Amino acid sequence: MTPARAARCVALLAVLAVLGLAACSTVAETGRRRIAWLPESYMSELGAAAYDEATSAKYPVIQSGPDHAMVQRIGKRIAEASRKDYAWEFRLLDAKDEVNAFCLPGGKVAVYTGLLKVTQNEDALACVMGHEVAHAIAEHGNERITQGLIQNGVLSITDAALQTWGKMSDSSRESTMEALGLASQLGAILPFSREHESEADEIGLRYMIRAGYDPYEAPKLWERMAANSKDRPPEFLSTHPDPENRAARLEQLIPKLLAEEKGKRMVPR
Ligand SMILES: [Zn+2]
Repeated sequence: MTPARAARCVALLAVLAVLGLAACSTVAETGRRRIAWLPESYMSELGAAAYDEATSAKYPVIQSGPDHAMVQRIGKRIAEASRKDYAWEFRLLDAKDEVNAFCLPGGKVAVYTGLLKVTQNEDALACVMGHEVAHAIAEHGNERITQGLIQNGVLSITDAALQTWGKMSDSSRESTMEALGLASQLGAILPFSREHESEADEIGLRYMIRAGYDPYEAPKLWERMAANSKDRPPEFLSTHPDPENRAARLEQLIPKLLAEEKGKRMVPR
């Protein structure tokens, strides 16, 4: 082994050792242990970079009217309930056939007009927006990219670690961005795991309660959603094969979360 190669190996081992130590962190809202290696600030950059492409580049953004005002109103309340200091943005997209919504890392939210037909009321839309925001707050995208990095091998991990420590040159940073390009489409495209969906349900329900909305609209909404989307399930249904179980689980969680959030709720609008 040449000295240069040996030095590289030592550096790589050091990187892996530090990553190993930093491997596990905890989702604050649920206490779940998870592996999410990328810095939150970097994930927010990815989210912001993908936002236009995933929203205004594809659909007209509705800028006024009662539905626009409703999305802004709910967004503000859910953001406040999450207690997260993101550069929040909420866009309503004119897409009548899309029954969907998403939140990119860093608090970049989009709601498609097709969703409003199914939510039918403000509390139910708050349920979906709470769920999507919960994915971002719990950094599920970070976990998914981390899984991808693990699958893609040690070199990618090393790059991410260099980025973590701010030592990455512009060009290698760019190539990492490129490698992660697909992943930067996250919220809208890649499916979350079933575990992530359940966690987002629970956290989203807590936010919706804290924001002063009626949590009993949540199970009703998921039943409507299941009935409405037999052909092409939206993101929040795709990894939930059993919507009745989901509604039942939410129903069970409501009294517990209402008790925990007692005295912390915002005044209903
Ligand atoms: Zn989801």
